[in-house]
Amino acid sequence: MGFPTNIEVLKNSIATRRNAARTASDEASHRERENQENQAIAEILNRLLSSWRDSDPGKYGDAFFFLDATLRKRVVVQEFLADGTKVYQTRQEWGEYDRTRSWEDAKYDGVPYWYSVVTLSDVGRGECLKCKSLQPVVEHYVQAYDSPEGDVWLKKHLVLCLDCNLTTTLESKTSDSRF
Ligand SMILES: [Zn+2]
Repeated sequence: MGFPTNIEVLKNSIATRRNAARTASDEASHRERENQENQAIAEILNRLLSSWRDSDPGKYGDAFFFLDATLRKRVVVQEFLADGTKVYQTRQEWGEYDRTRSWEDAKYDGVPYWYSVVTLSDVGRGECLKCKSLQPVVEHYVQAYDSPEGDVWLKKHLVLCLDCNLTTTLESKTSDSRF
């Protein structure tokens, strides 16, 4: 082969490299998208394990919750609680614990009484946009904007399909205060 010895071969060589560059660039954006999707879903799963520990969910970052079958109430899934996790059953039991907490924003050491603990089969579900199967719906809740002129709180319901690595938005609402 060697270095091109005429203009046609040289032009071919340019075209070949441009094609290769385009393919590599497409692959790179595809990989980057995959990277972001995987990170986003890992983050959602991680928050689903811990958002119920927050004393003010969404105030200091994204909170995620499973929902009951009516998609109105946040719930905690039994199967995803670490062994030995305390579940406070009554307001009184909670009140006793609450008085011992060192500071207001400290993470809860057990599930507060206001969350129902349900089995995974009882969580609210919705249809995945891609595979059409029924998958858990999760609530994304966060203070998206914090300013003296006005706050923005965001509440979104997403169908979380781990088979497709995809979230499907069912509903999205904002408010100027917690809701
Ligand atoms: Zn799916």
